[in-house]
Amino acid sequence: MSDQNTPSSGDQRHHMSSFLMRESLIDKDLQVATETDTPTFRMLPDAKVVKIGGRSVMDQGRTMLMPVVDALGDILAEHKLIIGCGGGARTRHVFSIGMDLGLPTGVLAQLSIADALGNAHILGTLLAPHGVVAIPPEIFGHLLPFFLKAAPGVIMNGDPPYAIWEHPPDIGRVPPHRTDAGSYLVAECFGCETFTLVKDVDGLYTADPKSDASAELIRETSVSELRDRGLPALPFDEVLLRLLERARLVKRFQIVNGSKPELLRAAIEGEHVGTIVHSD
Ligand code: ATP
Ligand code: MG
Repeated sequence: MSDQNTPSSGDQRHHMSSFLMRESLIDKDLQVATETDTPTFRMLPDAKVVKIGGRSVMDQGRTMLMPVVDALGDILAEHKLIIGCGGGARTRHVFSIGMDLGLPTGVLAQLSIADALGNAHILGTLLAPHGVVAIPPEIFGHLLPFFLKAAPGVIMNGDPPYAIWEHPPDIGRVPPHRTDAGSYLVAECFGCETFTLVKDVDGLYTADPKSDASAELIRETSVSELRDRGLPALPFDEVLLRLLERARLVKRFQIVNGSKPELLRAAIEGEHVGTIVHSD
């Protein structure tokens, strides 16, 4: 992209030469031309993003959560963590009441942010002895590099802040960008090293292992393979597949079982201990 200042013919003024200046940004050829050789910059290349499941981990209470807290505490001694939280049962409850009342998808998305934020404060409290700080979402983005220099970890609600601007879903009314997607988008924007989803299953199966005993674990897969398989249910926000397909920086994620907390460190460090889903 050319951005050099070019002196004008005689009036001593400088004009910025920029290739998008006179173009319509909806022009297809122009969009293709924005694919330059300049690599996308990684702002926080050493940080690791971890999303802690709301329903599968937080809602299970002390027995499930405290070993996860201890494992995260150990990891925080060595790695900078950005922790996203899911909304769990409270979000399911608000969605069902909201849909019964005919509330728009954007309003449901707005309401669910509060549930995930509640879980971020709960987990943030338990991780406070390890120096983790819960950040109000509206200042999180701009100050993230600063907070992560100062603290070993930060915790946030995992939802992206689309709220009433949430995109309409392909099917039904549930907001498509929930806490797996929002946490992933933070990892992708900041160019973080790994993205890990902590759930209550060993990874992705051919069907929900809780309702189908014959379901088999898929150790590694890609977006295109998953599309071909057309699984009846997924343990993560489906929109994550579309986001991963378009990834510039974070081209894989791993699902790991929080009830096996001894695996968390390996997963966060990028070792293969659960299911890895990659972009191609
Ligand atoms: P929250 O969305 O509140 O953060 P969560 O993401 O931890 O909660 P769920 O959204 O319920 O939890 O997703 C995890 C669940 O997905 C698992 O507990 C499992 O029962 C279910 N599941 C559905 N399909 C599959 C599949 N193909 N493989 C593995 N688990 C699956
Ligand atoms: Mg979920």
